[in-house]
Amino acid sequence: MPDAILVTGGAGYIGSHACKALAGAGYLPVAYDNLSRGHRELVRWGPLEEGDLADGRRLAEVLRAHRPAAVLHFAAFIAVGESVREPLLYYRNNVGGALSLLRAMEETGVGTIVFSSTAAVYGDPERVPLTEEDPRRPVNPYGRGKRLIEELLEDQAAARGLRYASLRYFNAAGADPDGETGERHDPETHLIPLVLRAAQRRGAPLTLFGDDYDTPDGTCIRDYIHVSDLAQAHVLAVRSLLAGRPSGAFNLGSGEGYSVREVIEACRRVTGEAIPVTVGPRREGDPPRLVADPSRARQQLGWRPALSDLDTIVRTAWTWCKREAGDARS
Ligand code: UDP
Repeated sequence: MPDAILVTGGAGYIGSHACKALAGAGYLPVAYDNLSRGHRELVRWGPLEEGDLADGRRLAEVLRAHRPAAVLHFAAFIAVGESVREPLLYYRNNVGGALSLLRAMEETGVGTIVFSSTAAVYGDPERVPLTEEDPRRPVNPYGRGKRLIEELLEDQAAARGLRYASLRYFNAAGADPDGETGERHDPETHLIPLVLRAAQRRGAPLTLFGDDYDTPDGTCIRDYIHVSDLAQAHVLAVRSLLAGRPSGAFNLGSGEGYSVREVIEACRRVTGEAIPVTVGPRREGDPPRLVADPSRARQQLGWRPALSDLDTIVRTAWTWCKREAGDARS
């Protein structure tokens, strides 16, 4: 019998890729998802247990039934702008959900968790690349909630011996190279899928949020990391914790920064389509530069991103995007 791993948010974008990676590594991924923003069809590598994080009894029942060796905790709302408009929704769902999960884990004796954190915990950094020791000064409710959960894990580790890894994702992008899962957000807010939709003339032209930043071409710089590389980091983090190696936070980025204009150009190159773009005002809360120093994950987890060059990210996202549009052209 393979070791089970509970994957909250296993029907979502990164969670479904993690389920595939876990199955490939010999684990049984058990997805726990309320399907409010996840998709039943993306649960393909193990069972789906429908349930809400807020439902502690259901969680404990599922934990008792599957006796997982660890939990990967993805289930959360992810839209920064929405968190600014609806802070209570974000604190209740993200922080309240994590609290409920940790309580159920303690109750059922599951002591290992890999948590989906974010580069948004760093806020607007003074310098890049960012190391894990840089100060956490998030600038919106989404990032503040994630910092709070990181602190909760640290406190629970000190008090109860919880083993945890807080994985700080930079810009997750791309799709499974085999085309078995990908990004399906509604509404979509992320740059690469929006640029690709603009290339397909689906929806509006891309609005570029500000070209007057203090960067070489005036647009924001981000560190794009392939979602399958992120998924692999979760497998490595689980193995590391289960082998008794230390808990902690890890930056997951490629270490390379690309501007919004460079991403648009990569999309034009890969798709062969012109991209209609209009330049709009800056989006509130967007720092000019976010780039990871991923050396801790490399050294401590042995993580080696393999698909995170920009063209591979865009190519895999494009294949998925065409499939989602029901577009038969290759
Ligand atoms: N962006 C943009 N237009 C869009 C969506 C995003 O210009 O319609 C820019 C955004 O300002 C940021 C970068 O693209 O500089 C990446 O944004 P995304 O929302 O994908 O990820 P974030 O960096 O916010 O996590």
